[in-house]
Amino acid sequence: MSDDCIFCQIIEEKASCYAVHETRYTKTFLDIFPASPGHCLIVTKDHYQDIFDATPEAISMVGHVSTLIAHTVKNELQCDGVGIFQLNGAAAGQTVFHYHMHVIPRNAGEEISIHSRVPGNPEDLQAMAERLSHRASTMLDGVE
Ligand code: AMP
Ligand code: ZN
Repeated sequence: MSDDCIFCQIIEEKASCYAVHETRYTKTFLDIFPASPGHCLIVTKDHYQDIFDATPEAISMVGHVSTLIAHTVKNELQCDGVGIFQLNGAAAGQTVFHYHMHVIPRNAGEEISIHSRVPGNPEDLQAMAERLSHRASTMLDGVE
């Protein structure tokens, strides 16, 4: 836990999030500045700054869950594609220094961006979180 880390605060439930899925090692919630509707973040429960700091086990768990969330998003939203990526270090564009993976639904013809400066509408985020968490609970039943 790092006191000034927003993702640690979310994990500790000291800050709110639009939750999608949880395992022993990861929490998945919506990005509040979605690059597209359904943009998810898969976050380690322990605080690691980036890929250079995280343990191989944590990185592997995030990778595994990211794949499952990609299936969840594709299945629920019927998007054409799904982008999965993560950034390490300010020079690479990382803005929250707690290891995480982005899973971003993509549709043909849409402009591809990594970050958005436009916050999601709270009602839309809430509705999306409900859809994806319901889909994840059926598709990822038993994944701990
Ligand atoms: P990165 O730039 O790869 O570090 O990604 C950090 C992401 O976290 C950005 O896309 C932000 O929009 C997102 N973000 C920042 N604060 C929050 C928050 N409180 N809840 C959800 N997403 C957030
Ligand atoms: Zn943290």
